[in-house]
Amino acid sequence: MDTATRPTVSRTSGSRDPLGFLADEIADLKRQNLFRPLRVMSTQQGPEIDLDGRHVINLSSNDYLGLTHHPRMKEAALRGVREFGAGSGAVRSIIGTMSMHEALEDELAEFKHTEAVLTFQSGFTCNTGVIPAVTAEQDLILSDSLNHASIIDGMRLSKAPRKVFPHKDVAALRELLRDAADKGRADGWGPYRLILIVTDGVFSMDGDIAPLPEIVEAAEEYDNVAVYVDDAHSSGVLGKAGRGSVNHFGLDGRVAIQVGTLSKAVGVLGGYVAGSQALREILIQRGRPFLFSTSHPPAVVEACREAIRIMQDEPELIDRLWSSTRRFKAELTRLGFDTGHSETPITPVMLGDSGLTQRFSQALFEAGVFGTSVVFPTVAIDKARIRTIVSAAHSDDQLDRALTAFDKVGHHLGVLAG
Ligand code: PMP
Repeated sequence: MDTATRPTVSRTSGSRDPLGFLADEIADLKRQNLFRPLRVMSTQQGPEIDLDGRHVINLSSNDYLGLTHHPRMKEAALRGVREFGAGSGAVRSIIGTMSMHEALEDELAEFKHTEAVLTFQSGFTCNTGVIPAVTAEQDLILSDSLNHASIIDGMRLSKAPRKVFPHKDVAALRELLRDAADKGRADGWGPYRLILIVTDGVFSMDGDIAPLPEIVEAAEEYDNVAVYVDDAHSSGVLGKAGRGSVNHFGLDGRVAIQVGTLSKAVGVLGGYVAGSQALREILIQRGRPFLFSTSHPPAVVEACREAIRIMQDEPELIDRLWSSTRRFKAELTRLGFDTGHSETPITPVMLGDSGLTQRFSQALFEAGVFGTSVVFPTVAIDKARIRTIVSAAHSDDQLDRALTAFDKVGHHLGVLAG
């Protein structure tokens, strides 16, 4: 429908406008250069896309391996529809569990080298579902200060108290563990039943990797401490065939809970929790998004299953992702940009000021390159950046053209000297 012909039902009649404060909040965000309109893509996801009517090189998707548009993925999605229809019809605990949901979980468990896997509707709902399901009043959660928003929301939904340790600071984490082991809960619960250390495997805005070996070592000094890793940005990127950060560090079997996403390198949509059979079973009873939201449609499940096979059949995709990442990062640094602490394909170009960052992103766009601006509250107010991710699907020529645009805009806006 043409928006001009839509009835304005949201505005109440006369002078009443109980939601009038929203317009003030929007104006405030715009004044602070923190308002980000949505851009609309009119092609399939890929290294070059049409965005808001402009053809651009895309440095902003999480489609690390180019699987969103891989021919085998499309065919698998179609197979799912042909054989099982368009939707699953219900939440899994009612009548929404199809044989393919179970097969995907078995295949993922084998891939992750864990006893069992349970899928959720997204990586976000994994964190908001799992953390409150496995923790309670008698537990304590220790969380890295740069953990993803969905972990923060998951902790908010848990009855367990939580403490935040400075980003990747294992000495501070050890001190919190010592303190917790000595004192237990102050209000008479005695020792904590469980202390859960929660960390991203790869941090989504900076692209740095958690010090997992040191964290696991610290945890293993206590009987009641478990590690929970959110591997959203490591799935398909780190470890053998993209098994994730735990496998990357040779820690298979030593991390109690691994969360992964099916929405980034896997190229589709969803999240999963990999761990013990008991963990899977309790989440089927208590994981609220699992219990109260409809399961994945067949097209999604079949495409996710195909992605796990492609990641093992086509190792050249991960090799290509990493060689392009290394080259792109090195070239940005050579041009004079600050790429922060990144160790993975997530490569921020640190600019600091939100206004400058938004202007930079717009100028890049006009030069034919899409690099998203990331500003407060996603990152600290003085840490605005352009967040780039190259994918296995980018050609050398596309990356060279993107670097030329960065160089040109960097000089034009005075970020690069000379
Ligand atoms: N965890 C982390 C660390 C993430 O970066 C993201 C996505 N931004 C998620 C969870 C959520 O994943 P999904 O898109 O599958 O909901």
